[in-house]
Amino acid sequence: MKNNEGLKPSVEVSISGSTRLLALLGDPVTHSISPAMHNKAFQILGLNYAYMGFTANKNNLKSSVDAMKALNVLGFNVTMPIKQKILPYLDELSFEAEMIGAVNTVKNENGKLIGYNTDGPGYVMDLQDKGLKIRKQSFLIVGAGGAATSIAVALARAGAGQITVINRSIEKAEHIISLINKISPDCMAFASKFEDDSIAQELVKANVLINCTPLGMGHQEGISFIQDPSILHKDMIISDLIYVPRKTALLKLGDERGCKTINGIGMIIWQGALAFKIWTGEDMPIQDIKQQLF
Ligand code: NAP
Repeated sequence: MKNNEGLKPSVEVSISGSTRLLALLGDPVTHSISPAMHNKAFQILGLNYAYMGFTANKNNLKSSVDAMKALNVLGFNVTMPIKQKILPYLDELSFEAEMIGAVNTVKNENGKLIGYNTDGPGYVMDLQDKGLKIRKQSFLIVGAGGAATSIAVALARAGAGQITVINRSIEKAEHIISLINKISPDCMAFASKFEDDSIAQELVKANVLINCTPLGMGHQEGISFIQDPSILHKDMIISDLIYVPRKTALLKLGDERGCKTINGIGMIIWQGALAFKIWTGEDMPIQDIKQQLF
C-alpha cells in the first residue's frame, strides 16, 4: 500500500544467516525513504543484503559507529544531525567529503571506515538524467547548509559557469564561494545576503534557482521566499530539494510562471544510487525503483 506521498513505506526482504547488514544512522530516521529504496533494489537484484535505520545522535555516536564495525556491516548512510560530527570517527575521506566537511555514505572495507558525500553528485546526476545542461549555466542557490555546500561543489566540478549563494548568515555563503574558487577557478562565484531584493536581483541572471533551505516543508509548508511569480523568467528551472510535499509553494509559483520545476525526489534516488554502487559495486535499478516505489 502506498502512503499519501505516493511512496510504499516498506519492502519485504528475505533474511538468512549470511545476510549482510547496511544501515542508516541519524535522528530522526523513521520517516526516511532510504530503507525502502535500498531493500527494494536488493530484492530486484537478488542481493543478500538488508538495510535498516537506527537512531544515532551526538549522545550515542561513538558507540553507534563502534557497533557498525563490530557487526561488520557492509556500509551505512549518515543523515542529520551527524553528517559533520561523524568525521573524527572515520579512517579515510573521499575528496568531496573532505572538501565539504560532511559525510552521507560510509563503506566498511575490512574494518576501515571510508566516508563519502554523494548528495551533490546525486543532485548533478538527477539534472543530467533529466537532460538538463550544467556546463556554463548560471545557478542561484538559496541556503548555505550541508546540502547547498555539497551541491555547489558538485555543480562547480561539473562545469557550471556561475554560482551565486544567498544565505541569512553570509559567512556560510562566503565559505562555499571559497571552496568553489579553490576547486574550479573558472566558475564565477558570488555570495549574497538573504534579503527579498537580493533574490530578485540575482534571479535576473540565473538559469536555475535551487532552494536548499527548509522553507516550504514541515511547519513551514506553504511558505516560499518568493511571493511574486513575475520575478521568475519562463525559461528558467526551479528546483527544490524538498520532497515532502512533492510540490512546494516555490514549485507551484514556478508552475504558474511556466517554468520547468523539479522536486527533491530525483536527488534522493540518485544520492542513494551512488551509495549503492559504492557498497555493492552494482548499479541500482533506478527505473524499477521509480516505478515500484514512487
Ligand atoms: P542545513 O544544513 O540545516 O541548512 C539549512 C540552510 O537553510 C541554512 O543555510 C539556513 O540558513 C537556511 N535556512 C533555514 N531556515 C531558513 C529560513 N527560515 N529562512 C531563510 N533561510 C533559512 O540543512 P541541509 O541539510 O542543507 O538541508 C536543506 C534542505 O534540503 C532541507 O529541506 C532538506 O530536507 C533538504 N535536503 C534534501 C535532500 C534530497 O535528497 N532531496 C538531501 C539533503 C537535504 P542559516 O545558515 O542562516 O541558518
